[in-house]
Amino acid sequence: MPKVISSHRCILEKYPRPSRDASAFIFKGVIDNIKLHAECGKIVDQEVMGLIIGSVCTDMIGDYIWATETVTSSLDADRVSVRFKEDSLEDMFKLLSDLPERRIVGWYHSHLGEGSRLSQDDILMQERLYGNDPGFALIVDPVNSTIDIFSVKDGKVQKTHAAILEPDD
Ligand SMILES: [Zn+2]
Repeated sequence: MPKVISSHRCILEKYPRPSRDASAFIFKGVIDNIKLHAECGKIVDQEVMGLIIGSVCTDMIGDYIWATETVTSSLDADRVSVRFKEDSLEDMFKLLSDLPERRIVGWYHSHLGEGSRLSQDDILMQERLYGNDPGFALIVDPVNSTIDIFSVKDGKVQKTHAAILEPDD
């Protein structure tokens, strides 16, 4: 999986950080999509996953992320694991290449009842995707109704301070 779709960075003057207290700003539609996807998975007793698209900006405080869209593909999933079906990746990345000013700013998947903690495999995946670059892992648990967002820095899991933005914000 490529680390980023493009190295495009947003123009700071155009998109200033809405709040100093957060480093990820997620459009409400993104959260709604992820919750709905996880609920659909819950009905058939399967985990779900997808990618979160947006951009990364930098200001005097540091990097911050805009998350504006989600994308997913066919999945191989059961109640404790999930991955993208290999033959569906090409379509997904083709779709992503139609959004040249965007990059993959995060990935999400669901846990069915075991809460939103990163498993050892999740930590490895996050490190493989992002290393110390900006990007987050979102875990949704539709059984416990929790959503948490993490990054991994130097092997240590950190909660990401995120703000949900309503369309009019
Ligand atoms: Zn997991």
